[in-house]
Amino acid sequence: MNLFIDDETRARLEGIRALGASEIRPLGLEADRLGRPTPPEHPFFERLVKGGQGRTRWSGAPEASAPGERRSKVGSSRSTLCLAEEMAYWDRGVAVSFPGPGLGEPPLISMGTEDQKQRFLAPFIEPDRPRWGSFAMTEPGAGSDVAGIQASAQKEGGNWILNGAKSFAANASRADWIVVWATVDSSLGREGHRAFVVEKGTPGLEDFQVERKMGLKAYESTSFRLNDCRVPAANLIGGEEHYARKAGFKGAMRSFNATRPLVAIMAVGIGRAALDATTDFARENDLLCDIRVRDRLERARRKLRSARLLCWRAAWLADYGRPNILEASMSKAAAPTAALEAASLGMEVIGTVGGRGDHLIEKLFRDVKAMDIVEGTGQVQRLVMARQLVQFPRN
Ligand SMILES: Cc1cc2nc3c(=O)[nH]c(=O)nc-3n(C[C@H](O)[C@H](O)[C@H](O)COP(=O)(O)OP(=O)(O)OC[C@H]3O[C@@H](n4cnc5c(N)ncnc54)[C@H](O)[C@@H]3O)c2cc1C
Repeated sequence: MNLFIDDETRARLEGIRALGASEIRPLGLEADRLGRPTPPEHPFFERLVKGGQGRTRWSGAPEASAPGERRSKVGSSRSTLCLAEEMAYWDRGVAVSFPGPGLGEPPLISMGTEDQKQRFLAPFIEPDRPRWGSFAMTEPGAGSDVAGIQASAQKEGGNWILNGAKSFAANASRADWIVVWATVDSSLGREGHRAFVVEKGTPGLEDFQVERKMGLKAYESTSFRLNDCRVPAANLIGGEEHYARKAGFKGAMRSFNATRPLVAIMAVGIGRAALDATTDFARENDLLCDIRVRDRLERARRKLRSARLLCWRAAWLADYGRPNILEASMSKAAAPTAALEAASLGMEVIGTVGGRGDHLIEKLFRDVKAMDIVEGTGQVQRLVMARQLVQFPRN
């Protein structure tokens, strides 16, 4: 595995560092204090888009790559990981609020037809304004058990009629479109799953409510309802042939295998921020001379670095089109645990200062918890790993 960071990525990392200190962290602290997401009309987003952010990884042209061949046209997943870690270091909530197709992009890239990529991703190649995409799988009654989603999809002429409720979808109320997962028959489990692009303003896409969260307040996690929401057949991702091959749920899982290392590396970024703040506090308060403090800081940093390598390995495999289900789950299981340990150590070191609720470490402690939940909890990753490593439980 190549661990080299190329010059372009290095230069972009420098850019994020500068933006992080001047804007990303201050915006994250402000959203946390106000207890609400940064609004979509905030000039920060306009400036980001003008500066080249908010773009799709899709190249705009059909991609043909054989297994084992490096998929350079969509960029290196590992360089994306380096940039994501740095953004999360400054503020993970703000990082997720960045304009862009978000978690809706992987299913469109991996399953979408060329026509769908043109319609939904092309506007993100050179966006004329801040644009967002969103991804809605979770429901009030179906989180970890993705196969249990109840939102229904019924074909009626040239349309699909969607009904149901979705929750915790990032950036959903500001998105141009949402990738919504629904089922044609809940008794079919995973085989009944279909993914639709539901465009903003579609009648029946309604009742958006921003959820209350303990951390990561700078971006919106939103619930909404689908009430007889009529979606054109052309918005069924991949078309019906895709599902005739029983590839629906596999498409969702491929999306998760691509995005789990990304979520995991963001946990590494938050953990690193917590450790840096803890080290600064310990230095300022003469605590570094205590061997126990030094030992625990070293241990926490070592675990974060190990977790980062797992994330890179999962991304490297994805770059070469190789299966990465085990590595994606390993990274997602390890990184949030290491990051939570780092933030908990910070809370111990700052002691009663943390109880006041206005210290960066206390905010990071609240931010980091969600990283174990999003994109499949730690327990669920351990189930996936057990299935891969000891072939139990079976599918
Ligand atoms: C900040 C945040 C952002 C999110 N963003 C999105 C988004 O953009 N789009 C989206 O679709 N969803 C999103 N989610 C939802 C997220 O994916 C779910 O919360 C997650 O899948 C867990 O589902 P749940 O909350 O229903 O918990 P449950 O599935 O009810 O689980 C509750 C607990 O039981 C454990 N558990 C469940 N099943 C098992 C099992 N078989 N064995 C052992 N333990 C088990 C879990 O690990 C967990 O600890 C987000 C969530 C958060 C917190």
